[in-house]
Amino acid sequence: MSDSRIEAAFDAIGDDPLNAFISLRRDDAMAEGRALDGSGVLAGMPIALKDNLCMRGTRTTCASRVLEHWVAPYDATAVERLKAAGAVVVGKTNMDEFAMGSSSEHSAFGPVLNPHDRTRVPGGSSGGSAACVAAGWVPAALGSDTGGSVRQPGAFCGVTAIKPTAGRVSRYGLVAFASSLDQIGVLGVDAATCAQVLEVIAGEDARDATSARRPVEAFRGAVDAGIAGRRIGVPRALLERADPEVRASVEQALARWIAAGAEAVEVELPHAHLGVSVYYLIATAEASSNLARFDGVRYGARVEAGSLEEMYEATRALFGAEVKRRIVLGTFALSSGYYDAYYLEASRVRTLLRRDYASAFERCDAVLTPTAPTPAFELGAKSDPLAMYLCDLYTLPASLAGLPAISVPCGTHAGLPIGAHLVAPAFDESTLFALAGALERS
Ligand code: GLN
Repeated sequence: MSDSRIEAAFDAIGDDPLNAFISLRRDDAMAEGRALDGSGVLAGMPIALKDNLCMRGTRTTCASRVLEHWVAPYDATAVERLKAAGAVVVGKTNMDEFAMGSSSEHSAFGPVLNPHDRTRVPGGSSGGSAACVAAGWVPAALGSDTGGSVRQPGAFCGVTAIKPTAGRVSRYGLVAFASSLDQIGVLGVDAATCAQVLEVIAGEDARDATSARRPVEAFRGAVDAGIAGRRIGVPRALLERADPEVRASVEQALARWIAAGAEAVEVELPHAHLGVSVYYLIATAEASSNLARFDGVRYGARVEAGSLEEMYEATRALFGAEVKRRIVLGTFALSSGYYDAYYLEASRVRTLLRRDYASAFERCDAVLTPTAPTPAFELGAKSDPLAMYLCDLYTLPASLAGLPAISVPCGTHAGLPIGAHLVAPAFDESTLFALAGALERS
């Protein structure tokens, strides 16, 4: 097959002025493009992978000095399925270190720039994946979403981004951050592209016991299904927490959905405002446990003939400040005497959040909010960690409840994209694609 689409992608990427990639694989990708026989639903599609996804023979750094030289010895299941469908991986994208962050500034390889305004962040942690789609370099990219890391950069960069239901996509080969929350998601130029890629990577996998034994629907078909009579639930009190221009843009999207045949209903998510507190306890607790493997022995700094203590020490020095902060926070939350007060309490509120959605879905097919309370902010604007955490307000509840959620571009303010965020019942990604498709056509 021809490698012209792959070559065009590399020509467009050039010297990567957005710092969206940690590594590019030009020669390998060109050869793979030439070797394709043209079969496969994604035949010849150039695609980018967040650098916490394993692909055999590629460096997989998680944007961390700790893994700077680590080369993955196997393919993640999602990557294996992409390759089998004929997609060609052009490179591994930049991100917040170990996917911890909302701006892609916490990278050991420097920040990613937003293609709409290079003084601003692209969102995070899958900022490189969002930026390279928004720049028009590749039609789609994979990211990971623990608390919003696919959806929020999608919103900041003006691309479509879906986090599927927990268990929909195998996580074999995704470097773990917080295991009860991590999901692989897709960012794409439009709903149809996201649907097509998700259809390829979704489905049960014997190598991930948490992957769901559920047939994968025809997501691509759902994009054109129409939305007559679909009910969109609007939690008004939550909307108030967004900037006025963001709120206005989401209200306009709602009006366009209604014009296309949907209906708006009022719903309440009484515990959604607790999402930030709950998430930052659960995610840090799980991260402190997952990251224990980066101890200088199994992974980490190489100290020739050093003592164990020297290896620990050398590896510890390689972690960035945000990652260290989370390991300490999470270890504290799990420590004896505090477990009941923090982790257990957070888990209880998580259950209440799930119930909030269950009652909302008795009245509607999807819940609408903004994806983020503001458009993309300036580089360096959120140096206070808490200020950074608070901008995840809208994406965290769906993560905690394990529900599928999508961010769809719904307008711009002063040239900066704004995203509308929809959450659907478990395994109902089709409704999200139908609504995203309808908004694109309106
Ligand atoms: N911004 C959130 C955090 O910092 C979510 C990150 C993610 O989804 N990987 O943890």
